Amino acid sequence: MKQVYMDHSATTPADPQVYQAIKPYFMASYGNPSTIYSLGREAKEAVEKAREQVASLINAQPGEVYFTGGGTEAANQAIISYMLRNRNRGNHVITSAVEHHAVLDACRFLEKQGFELTVLPVSPEGLVDPDDLRSALKANTLLVSIMHANNEVGTIQPLKELAAVSRSAGAVFHTDAVQSVGKIPVNVEDLGVDMLSASSHKIYGPKGAGCLYIRKGTRIKNYLHGGAQERKKRPGTENVPGVVGFGKAAELARQNLLERNETLVYLAERLKDGILNNIPCTRLTGHPVHRIPGHVSVCFEFVEGESILLMLDNLGIMASSGSACTSGSLNPSHVLLAMGLSHEIAHGSLRLTLGKNNTEEDVDYVIEVLPGVIHNLREMSPLTPHML
Ligand SMILES: *Cc1c(COP(=O)(O)O)cnc(C)c1O
Repeated sequence: MKQVYMDHSATTPADPQVYQAIKPYFMASYGNPSTIYSLGREAKEAVEKAREQVASLINAQPGEVYFTGGGTEAANQAIISYMLRNRNRGNHVITSAVEHHAVLDACRFLEKQGFELTVLPVSPEGLVDPDDLRSALKANTLLVSIMHANNEVGTIQPLKELAAVSRSAGAVFHTDAVQSVGKIPVNVEDLGVDMLSASSHKIYGPKGAGCLYIRKGTRIKNYLHGGAQERKKRPGTENVPGVVGFGKAAELARQNLLERNETLVYLAERLKDGILNNIPCTRLTGHPVHRIPGHVSVCFEFVEGESILLMLDNLGIMASSGSACTSGSLNPSHVLLAMGLSHEIAHGSLRLTLGKNNTEEDVDYVIEVLPGVIHNLREMSPLTPHML
């Protein structure tokens, strides 16, 4: 059967060049980077090369990049450690209602510990209004954390403006850029962010590797306690193969960004039109223009996202509904609800995220079979009006 993977916002396959780059660090070059003999130094050099590759993708100094065990860990470290380190100066943290749980739940954890939390609303397209942020900032606000691009609906925030508003009020700005780094140009200097979280496995690198960018001068506590790795910010023996793979993936993303995006934009447009023109009672979710290349998210009325996924799986198509972390539960996505969609509509969500290996045939296959899937499900649903 034809297999079509359209869930690149959940994870991506490793690029063959990434796989080749990683391989030596399992057996031939297995040294611990903290040791002084040449085997260890070799591993250390590989980690430092990866740091340069990642830094250059986001226009940071290599010394501002700290490797972590992924995007979730980076975001938790940024938010929790910054608040703990600076609690003598304030106790207020601001985030948005459409964040990934890595950010939202880290903020809620802080709230349970006695910190004050403000969760900003978003527009129907998923945008945070800089004016809302401006009015939420207070003298005791330490940190603002707003994501760059949304994983569920693809919306890209006016990050530069949001960061500027925060910093002019004296608050440090962190962004969860897991869905933007390697997919659209991300430049920490131009954006003016103080901290940024990124992940390897969303950009054709291995899972379990990521980084936290910390602008020089930003004071943050270490989150884990142990050895002196990552300049004491992230103790624990380095995940050398993971870090090397992340570095290679970053280098490839930087080289191929514009070319990949041209194809992704074309394919996503074709897919979106094919869906909206052939399936009634369907709407695009997220921003129509400011969105991640290759990201198509829609809601179908009168159907359940979970049932769509099962039917698509039977046809060899892999996609998402809501976020991967909440699928399995029947709660509609907090992102879609925050954008003002009703529970019923939010339940019928489908996310198709394209990647560099998807072809026009993949897109056309989905356009060919999806209308039938939705039609059949609607016929079975008691919610469907007779007119359809
Ligand atoms: C995937 C994702 C994360 C988590 O990254 P991991 O490396 O899987 O821990 C965080 N934020 C967003 C927006 C994501 O899409």
